[in-house]
Amino acid sequence: MLKTAVALGLLCRVRRTSARHLYTDPAPFWIPTVRSIYSRGRIGRIMASVVVDLRSDTVTKPCAEMRRAMAEAEVGDDVYGEDPTVNEIQRYAAQLLGTEDALFVTSGTMGNLISVMVHCRHRASEILLGDESHLYFYEQGGVAQVAGVFSRPVRTLKDGRLDLKDLENKIQHGYPDPHFGQTRLICLENSHNRTGGRVLPLSYMREVRELADRYGLKIHLDGARLLNAAEALGVEPAEIVRLCDSVSLCLSKGLGAPIGSLIGGKADFIAEARRARKMLGGGMRQVGVLAAAGLVALRRAKDNVRLDHQNAKMFAKAVQDLGSPICSTDPAEVESNMVMLTVTPPLLGQDLCDRLSAEDQSGVVVKALAFSPVRVRLVWHRDVSTENTLQALEKLKGVLLNYRDGATPRG
Ligand SMILES: *Cc1c(COP(=O)(O)O)cnc(C)c1O
Repeated sequence: MLKTAVALGLLCRVRRTSARHLYTDPAPFWIPTVRSIYSRGRIGRIMASVVVDLRSDTVTKPCAEMRRAMAEAEVGDDVYGEDPTVNEIQRYAAQLLGTEDALFVTSGTMGNLISVMVHCRHRASEILLGDESHLYFYEQGGVAQVAGVFSRPVRTLKDGRLDLKDLENKIQHGYPDPHFGQTRLICLENSHNRTGGRVLPLSYMREVRELADRYGLKIHLDGARLLNAAEALGVEPAEIVRLCDSVSLCLSKGLGAPIGSLIGGKADFIAEARRARKMLGGGMRQVGVLAAAGLVALRRAKDNVRLDHQNAKMFAKAVQDLGSPICSTDPAEVESNMVMLTVTPPLLGQDLCDRLSAEDQSGVVVKALAFSPVRVRLVWHRDVSTENTLQALEKLKGVLLNYRDGATPRG
């Protein structure tokens, strides 16, 4: 009897996790239906907690419209250039970016790596990039591991710009003297992740362009959040990209697609990028199922991004209004979809995150990322509404008040 029950239970589990089941079940187990989890409250009642996940804008889940578009996507073999949906998103992206052509790739990391590889095809190539850039910080030095390209880091200012003097000083002039490599490329990031979504002004980007032209260098823009930058600057994305030789853009950040990035550039650049993508194992076949989600993301991106910025700014202003001695932020530094909280000891960043994510009577769980002992990062995205923002704010208020009263969090 017991054996039968266990066997049945196992069977159900297998069924629930089988790929086919995922596809046909209207609510597969891995989609939290109302972004809620269930927990036992103080009085033993089962109560639902709302989860507001602000750790990153990568945490979004594909919505019903995306899933429908994925299910219905027309597909073909993209390595043969025959996937109509991939071709459509590439045309759409080229128009949006104002580039001759565009290429669908698996991730922002692959987009950056491919771009560097195509710009730096000779041995001893060097790139100049920010010492706080994603490319330098979070991509395993892939340009060195895979492409044999040397990264020369440049000092990053508080607002994400590179120190122009340092940038110019780090250009190598000695080539072909055998002591020196050859500087070929400058990499910028807009908006800038590690400085909290700061946006590079167009005037600054023009200055970098002038510098690059003076020394015959190319510019690659890590535009994982290019659309956030465009929204913040009040310009079309193409106006930013115009100042660069190539760009990569993430669909899987705040725009809400489950996967995918795009590279934009001149036609011959993209032709080489297509070769590099295949060599790296990124030649995908009937990948229109993914491009279809990306198209949904791109078409509604403007509204999403605008709302994210509004919510982030509202949150930052409200935190400032709290006037807490242990947790603050400067709304003037909130330019896109991120808020950096400054935490004052004895409260520490991780401690604040633990308290925010602790379940309590508020019924709200807020997930945030401790960037350092004194900094906590919050990121807005497609799956965080204005209501969620207000809920997160209430939770933060409660945590800070409790902390001042010396109470320890439950759980
Ligand atoms: C997320 C991110 C990337 C990498 O994107 P993945 O798709 O996660 O590989 C690159 N640059 C910046 C600025 C990012 O934020």
